[in-house]
Amino acid sequence: MAKQKKKMDLPQKTCEVCKRNFQWRKKWEKVWDDVKYCSDKCRKNRNQEILKSKATPQ
Ligand SMILES: [Zn+2]
Repeated sequence: MAKQKKKMDLPQKTCEVCKRNFQWRKKWEKVWDDVKYCSDKCRKNRNQEILKSKATPQ
């Protein structure tokens, strides 16, 4: 019986917002170097934090 083919190891990164590891996805093929967040949700969370700090009431 032939051995099962090992899955190719995909690159991983750590999300800057939730600190979880996420795996390379086809949709990131061309932007992988710029990917910092595991999902749009995390990217929005990050933007919200920036907005919050900018919109400080006087
Ligand atoms: Zn995340």
